[in-house]
Amino acid sequence: MVKETQYYDILGVKPSASPEEIKKAYRKLALKYHPDKNPDEGEKFKLISQAYEVLSDPKKRDIYDQGGEQAIKEGGSGSPSFSSPMDIFDMFFGGGGRMARERRGKNVVHQLSVTLEDLYNGVTKKLALQKNVICEKCEGIGGKKGSVEKCPLCKGRGMQIHIQQIGPGMVQQIQTVCIECKGQGERINPKDRCESCSGAKVVREKKIIEVHVEKGMKDGQKILFHGEGDQEPELEPGDVIIVLDQKDHSVFQRRGHDLIMKMKIQLSEALCGFKKTIKTLDERTLVITSKSGEVIKHGDLKCVRNEGMPIYKAPLEKGTLIIQFLVVFPEKQWLSQEKLPQLEALLPPRQKVRITEDMDQVELKEFNPSEQNWRQHREAYEEDDDGPRAGVQCQTA
Ligand SMILES: [Zn+2]
Ligand SMILES: [Zn+2]
Repeated sequence: MVKETQYYDILGVKPSASPEEIKKAYRKLALKYHPDKNPDEGEKFKLISQAYEVLSDPKKRDIYDQGGEQAIKEGGSGSPSFSSPMDIFDMFFGGGGRMARERRGKNVVHQLSVTLEDLYNGVTKKLALQKNVICEKCEGIGGKKGSVEKCPLCKGRGMQIHIQQIGPGMVQQIQTVCIECKGQGERINPKDRCESCSGAKVVREKKIIEVHVEKGMKDGQKILFHGEGDQEPELEPGDVIIVLDQKDHSVFQRRGHDLIMKMKIQLSEALCGFKKTIKTLDERTLVITSKSGEVIKHGDLKCVRNEGMPIYKAPLEKGTLIIQFLVVFPEKQWLSQEKLPQLEALLPPRQKVRITEDMDQVELKEFNPSEQNWRQHREAYEEDDDGPRAGVQCQTA
């Protein structure tokens, strides 16, 4: 049991979430609430970042689970304060720390939605991006050559100092970013300002990039376009980082190189054998056949080798296709009373039960799971039923 769930709630995961689930939740939320895309959600972006910083570190997560936010804030981890949300973001998306950022233009991170079919077959997608490029008209100067001058208001410091009287004989110095040059320390005389970029040195430009999604790539994988990010005068341009976001598939779930699917079979098929077809992600049709006399139980797992996902960079090799069988039982009263003995004669014999006088005969009723405080139990049950877990019989080749 964890003490608090707030951090988990912020990321929208259960306290039992795996490190992968936490990473994925952060990735989706951080991209959604990044100030570039959602300038009004700075606070939310910060909370997401803090929750991720704690939950992604096994030690801090442990401290949080046991003592809640209070324990984290008291610095049980040795580092009581949080990192800047931007640093966390840059570290996660591979932009390097603040040092690297200062010498380079900003990275542009974009999410690209792909289907499982795209990741299986490979695909090329065109993506339209907005980015800053050096203004061609003024070559990044912002105005005519020689028009840049030291800011007269702050004298090139970029900061302004205000003296404020806060009481009799008491003054306070307040430093603010210079309003004239916005902290740049220099300005361009308005009459010499470049018309194309209005002195900003850069202009927004639409750029189409072609993203090659290769066979076997996975959800969350990054594709880097070196030097295609924002340009800034006198700096190396940043990178464009494309993050793949796989949509859920109606049939297959991916786990590493393996694909997992559920297949319904009738009771007759479970007992007497079957032939079934499976449509693959590249539109082939597989035929699977159960061995004669074999009994498939509800929840049983079987596998087909080399029909999982192609391995990235070695796409001729593939993982395993794992099939979990769900046995569909007949509806109530499907067989008439007089035929039941015939069926019973064929099935394994039932266990004899001796009933004596001193036993209590009770009524067996339908149970409605929405009744009572069954919800908690049901959640636990659903988690268990969430497809096969790691370590199933077929996973090791
Ligand atoms: Zn200034
Ligand atoms: Zn210009």
